[in-house]
Parts: sequence; structure tokens; C-alpha cells
Amino acid sequence: MVVTKFHPFSDQVHLAQIGAGDLGENRVQEAQAKAQEWEDADPNIAAGGLLDAESFPPRPRLHMIGHIQSKKTGAVARWADEVQSVDSIKVAEGLSRGRVREIDEFGAAPLRCLVQLSLDGDTSRGGAAAADLDGVCARIAELPGLELGGLMVVPPLDGESATHFERAAGFWADLRSEYPEATEFSAGMSGDLEAAISAGSTCVRVGTSILGPRPIL
Ligand SMILES: *Cc1c(COP(=O)(O)O)cnc(C)c1O
Repeated sequence: MVVTKFHPFSDQVHLAQIGAGDLGENRVQEAQAKAQEWEDADPNIAAGGLLDAESFPPRPRLHMIGHIQSKKTGAVARWADEVQSVDSIKVAEGLSRGRVREIDEFGAAPLRCLVQLSLDGDTSRGGAAAADLDGVCARIAELPGLELGGLMVVPPLDGESATHFERAAGFWADLRSEYPEATEFSAGMSGDLEAAISAGSTCVRVGTSILGPRPIL
């Protein structure tokens, strides 16, 4: 997955053009604005005049990978193809309510959700503490409009990322034994993707290595 946060919509278009089928965003407002641009896109203007209408690419799958305030869940449920950062029952319930509306009104597909694990329990960086993981997963699995797709982790800043990924993989194995459909293990970013793949990651989320440094706001 290419992480396009802080980069403009035109970069999403160019990535889609060269075959990137999955894009990730971690800030709700920015993600939503870009999703809206896909809906509104005048092919020529959107791509900076570089593409003609025929070669304008189809919209890639858009993934939310950052923390969501529970009051923002309804908006995310409208555009996201997947949410990798579900970290509380409250967020899951909000996404479910929003997605059920989309399904009823527009025939949308169920929203695939990964539960985000916080390995050090510092939930200010996002993620559910290990002790809360089962409860969040069970709620996602039973709520209408949602599908439990697997586990996501952002490793703690301290310690070896390889060790963190091995631990997270253990939680993923437990999760899969209860929910066979939870096939995704999203782990690894530009700086640690080899270690994540060694631990069994099925999805690396790469921003900087592909797009260069993010502009500092
Ligand atoms: C920004 C971000 C990434 C990508 O990080 P890079 O180091 O730029 O590859 C991956 N996952 C999450 C949750 C992010 O917020």
C-alpha cells in the first residue's frame, strides 16, 4: 500500500496510473478531501493536465490507516474501502452505523476493518491495548456492515521492531484461529518493512520510500 498522506491528490492519480491499487491515508479530513476529488474529478484538471480523459485511471482502493475520533466515523464509512485503524468498540459501532446507511442507500460493499494493536498499551499513538483486542474484534465480527479483515500494528518507538513484529504476529495467529477470515497482517513501513515481512506481514504501508519526504507543515 502506498501511503499518500501530505502528498497532493495529483500524486494519487499518478500512482493509480502506474498501477498502485491500494492507497493509505492517516488523517480523516485530508483523506476525505482526496476521496471527494476522485468523485468530482475532471480527468484533465485532476491530473494537472497530464492525462487525457481516456487514460485517467480508475480510483484505487482507499484505506484509512490513522486514528479516527468516534464522531468522524460516519464520514469515513462513506468513502473508505478499508479501515486498518479500528481501535475501540465505539469506533467500530460508528463505522457500522455509517456503513449500513451506505449499503442501504447505495448498495455499498461491507467495510473491511482491521483492528489496530497497541503493543505498549500507549493508546495515545492509536491502537487498542492487548487486553482490549478480543472485545474489539468480537464487536467488529458481529456488527452489521463490517467485516473483520485482520490485524494492523505500528511498532512502539522503543525496542527492536523485529521483536515487536514477532509479538504482533502471535496476536494475529490467535485472531485467525478464532476468525479465519482475518487474513491480513498489516505491518511494516519504509524503515522496517523487511523485518515485518520476515514476521509474516501481508501488507506493508510505504510512504517515504516511494514518494520522498513529506512536506513539513
Ligand atoms: C505515515 C504512515 C505510514 C508510512 O510511513 P513511511 O515511513 O513514510 O513509509 C505507515 N503507516 C501509518 C499508520 C502511517 O501513518
